[in-house]
Amino acid sequence: MKTRMTSAALAALLCAAAAPALAQAPAKPAAQVDFGNVRPPAPTSPYTKQAKALIAGKAFKAAKATLAAGYDQTVADIVTLTEIPAPPFGEAEKGKAYLAMLAKEGLTDLETDAAGNVMGLRKGTGGGGLLVVAAHLDTVFPASTDVKVRREGDKLYAPGIGDDTVGLGSILAILRAINAAGIQTKSDILFVGDVGEEGPGDLRGMKELFFKGKYKDKIDAFISLEPSGPTVIVNGGVGSKRYKTTFKGPGGHSMGDFGTVTPAPALAAAARQFGELKVPSDPRTVYNIGLLEGGTSVNSIPFAVSMTVDMRSSGKAELKAVEDAYLAILPKAVEAENAARSTKRGVISLDNKMVGDRPVGETPITSPFVQQLAAVGDALGKPMGYVAGSTDANIPMSLGKPAVTLGAGFVTFRGHSLEEGMEVNKDRDVESIAVTMAQILMAAGAR
Ligand SMILES: [Zn+2]
Repeated sequence: MKTRMTSAALAALLCAAAAPALAQAPAKPAAQVDFGNVRPPAPTSPYTKQAKALIAGKAFKAAKATLAAGYDQTVADIVTLTEIPAPPFGEAEKGKAYLAMLAKEGLTDLETDAAGNVMGLRKGTGGGGLLVVAAHLDTVFPASTDVKVRREGDKLYAPGIGDDTVGLGSILAILRAINAAGIQTKSDILFVGDVGEEGPGDLRGMKELFFKGKYKDKIDAFISLEPSGPTVIVNGGVGSKRYKTTFKGPGGHSMGDFGTVTPAPALAAAARQFGELKVPSDPRTVYNIGLLEGGTSVNSIPFAVSMTVDMRSSGKAELKAVEDAYLAILPKAVEAENAARSTKRGVISLDNKMVGDRPVGETPITSPFVQQLAAVGDALGKPMGYVAGSTDANIPMSLGKPAVTLGAGFVTFRGHSLEEGMEVNKDRDVESIAVTMAQILMAAGAR
């Protein structure tokens, strides 16, 4: 994946910040908004023989048979967990239930950490380091959302059932399967149900795990499961920067105080210049003004108006360039308003708060870690594709640790909408979960 744009493109971006040109039509959004361009599969993995042997082995076949035999239980677990609301910052109850489920599968060192992540350890035979396998507890839906699961034929509907409750369910299914087959791994595996993956959570679960908690310097590799097909490896982490930018002023009566500085035109000028920034399409770089707020009444000069903006890129330099350009626009817009009208009653000032910070990262396709995972696809004749996403894996990726996100193994639809759902198709789903299970076992050094 290319992570740097040409210096000419960078100059164009910075130039646009300094002296906005005429409005540019923004780049056409890709079909998958959160994912960058899907890259072609890499050449055949050097670990293919090893993956073939794993998949053909008696133990793996026994584990797969357990996936099939336990399929109804897995779906029941997903339904149980989906029906416990888990809005951002409200994951505690779902976490408690999930920790009890992990405990039932025989994990040790069970705990809930300071952020609310729940986890337990499956000891390895040694020499393989510590692998984390995680899925997130939180959903995007507020606490008041009806999360009762509705079944229609082979479809289950409920907000949050796909993203990411199928990931939590897959982890339980895989744990049961490898336990029943008596499969041992070299690595210790820490299974985690984490908090704060979705927008407002700002990856706080991962930040606790990797920056503060007791495992912070001990994790050697990371896999998170998200609703996605079994032939995609998310090995690139799209970074994002989010700001709530408030323009403040003295306010006043629309008639009596006419001529006084007002924050609305300052915001409008900044928003227009931001909207005119040119950004590269490779690596895909985007921006958005998502929220506009402020004012008190139609006949008042507002005291405050604000916009909340989102900037994303899978390139570190490109994300910084668009962020720097935005930050440069703001004081100029303030200055212009203070020069345009009277400041006798006060001046326009700026209150700019960062409300989101997800680092950019990448685990190279050519790394041994990704190649071990790719080997499973090669062994099955279904080569993996590679994409960039915005997931829990961004944090370990940004630290240079081998990290990816894999598909949880179910077919889901309408994620983040009230019509979110999943399909129930035992044979197909067992095949998909088995791919993910094989990948986890490859990464953990199954023996
Ligand atoms: Zn998710």
